[in-house]
Amino acid sequence: MRMTGKVALVSGAASGMGAATARLFAAEGAKAVVVADILDQEGKEVVAGIGKAGGHASYIHLDVTDEAQWKAAVEATVAAHGRLDVLVNNAGISGSAETDLYDTAAWNRLMGINATGVFLGMKYATAAMKQSGGGSIVNLSSISGIVGQGYLHVGYNASKGAVRLITKAGAAQHGKHGIRVNSVHPGLMPPMRTSGSTADPAMRAKTLKGVPMGRAGEVDEVARAILFLASDESSYVTGAELVVDGGWTAV
Ligand code: NAD
Repeated sequence: MRMTGKVALVSGAASGMGAATARLFAAEGAKAVVVADILDQEGKEVVAGIGKAGGHASYIHLDVTDEAQWKAAVEATVAAHGRLDVLVNNAGISGSAETDLYDTAAWNRLMGINATGVFLGMKYATAAMKQSGGGSIVNLSSISGIVGQGYLHVGYNASKGAVRLITKAGAAQHGKHGIRVNSVHPGLMPPMRTSGSTADPAMRAKTLKGVPMGRAGEVDEVARAILFLASDESSYVTGAELVVDGGWTAV
């Protein structure tokens, strides 16, 4: 059991990779997994599933763009479970539904959820982790935070690039407090709820040609990478970027 005794909060955990991560943490013996999202019904269903499988989870409504909600979510976690050991900043929206790749409102939305949402999570989580002597923060970036793609709104690449560097800054600042901060960079995965053009089968088939392993990834393959960084197995890993992309960015 790789998460025994740990208290974890996963943002955007009502679906996709966040839900897979919450399930895996619980299966690996986490003391408590806080499933946080804006999709209350789906989030509660994830919690119910974890409970049925014998794990410990609860749901909290959290819009990651709302600073007061972040403060309340971290405070509620510490009040209920005594500490916060792991934060997974996973909530995000896609830039592939935008037809105007320079639309200003879309830029603000993408930066607000994907970048500011991670900043706020780190702000409140690091404060709580300092109180209990350390912790692990895992930020979901993307290969889009490493290389540019001409078919995505520029705010997606910019926001995921910001996540990559917020991570390294956090590692530099908080290492002395026993807080590790790492980023995970998935490649071609099941489409996001907000995917537009990149969910199109023809577009995915074209993209697959550039992936050496010749297939898309599965949510559990990313969850296992997150688990490694969240757990004590990665005790000397901080400021690292773990690419999970079937080799897409290796060529
Ligand atoms: P998803 O759409 O299935 O899940 C994203 C979750 O974030 C949803 O549950 C959604 O409700 C939640 N969310 C959105 N806005 C929110 C907000 N303001 N506050 C709180 N929660 C909010 O997507 P996914 O594929 O599981 O993506 C998870 C993360 O991985 C995202 O950060 C995404 O950018 C990143 N990523 C995805 C892919 C991919 O192809 N699917 C590839 C690389 C990186």
